[in-house]
Amino acid sequence: MKLNARRIEDLDLKNRRVLVRVDFNCPQDDSGRLTDDTRIRAALPTIREILARGGRPVLMSHLGRPKGKVVESMRLAPMGARLAELLGVQVLALKDCIGTEVRAQIDHAPAGSVVLLENVRFHAGDEAGDAAFAKALAANGELFINDAFGAAHRDHASVCGVARELPAAAGRLMEKEIAAFSRVLDNPARPLVAILGGAKVSDKLQVVDNLLDKVDALLVGGGMAYTVLAARGVSTGKSLVQADQLASVQAALEKAKQRKVEVLLPLDHVCAANFAESEAPVAVDGEAIPAHLMGLDIGPKTRQRYAACIGGAKTVVWNGPMGVFEWPAFRGGTEAIGRAVAGCAGYTVIGGGDSVAAIELLGLADKVKHISTGGGASLELLEGTLLPGIAVLAKS
Ligand code: AMP
Repeated sequence: MKLNARRIEDLDLKNRRVLVRVDFNCPQDDSGRLTDDTRIRAALPTIREILARGGRPVLMSHLGRPKGKVVESMRLAPMGARLAELLGVQVLALKDCIGTEVRAQIDHAPAGSVVLLENVRFHAGDEAGDAAFAKALAANGELFINDAFGAAHRDHASVCGVARELPAAAGRLMEKEIAAFSRVLDNPARPLVAILGGAKVSDKLQVVDNLLDKVDALLVGGGMAYTVLAARGVSTGKSLVQADQLASVQAALEKAKQRKVEVLLPLDHVCAANFAESEAPVAVDGEAIPAHLMGLDIGPKTRQRYAACIGGAKTVVWNGPMGVFEWPAFRGGTEAIGRAVAGCAGYTVIGGGDSVAAIELLGLADKVKHISTGGGASLELLEGTLLPGIAVLAKS
């Protein structure tokens, strides 16, 4: 999975309009205030480099799911304001992303400023991957840089269509993300340990299948662990079990045996009688869960066992919480795994989504070697999928 794409240094940026796909899909509170600017910060190296080399950055991003209509609460102006603070240069947030008016505003933007186009998903053509819309977007630039790793699994006009219209390259964030996953998936330092959690095993089966060809050990937690335990004939009580997935899970366990991959499953649990935050946690020692209880977190023995395995790893990749970490009483397992990953001296990667939220909650994000900015995109990389937004940048 080497990045076979042009890089920023391969493009002559001076005085050129450089259209950059960024991922500024940042969380906001009800009043529209940004609650997390990680994705904006992650795009700064590329934007700074374009400015330093005399290029004129024209940024575009999606935000939320406006479904092809203008939705006032999904405008990118707040992201533009935050970007201006972080960069210390003027950022012009425009009211649209295509058309002659937009183009005129780009042409008249002061030297050294940054233009931020309006949410590309205000036009249905973006998600539809419409070629005419891609051409209209491309008219805003002379060169294209894709730095939106978080959208690289989408065959959308602003991701793939524009790359077909303009000389294109990968941005610094895109390079960094690909390098991190490549370090895990291609010739990793061993032992390589993968930790998978999250709600449903069905969402992760393809990841499991791909990782079984690569890892030395697979640690399973979260809701998905109960379907795996059930497939091994263990009683799981009222836990989340996907009965229609048992055969696929059995096939995966068989594959693991053949490949001599160690699959670690919960040895004990923190349970509750019902799925509610107010429920009292009940410790269950041993694999089997009584009929009236459901597993909502891994227990202390499991935490210890998993942490020991992570501590001895040279490469670790983690995706998905070990329990219902949103509820304090069922957070301990995810916390213990987060601490173990943060404390591991090997190369550690956390792939997007809830496990990132968990490590941030612990204040340990800076102890992990790479935290991905893309949940869906990183999951697809772990599945072994070639992401369309990366494939389209390949040098012919
Ligand atoms: P995912 O989106 O697949 O990564 O799943 C994350 C969600 O899984 C989180 O919202 C967790 O609360 C939930 N989850 C984790 N463990 C369990 C469990 N044992 N039972 C039910 N849901 C769980």
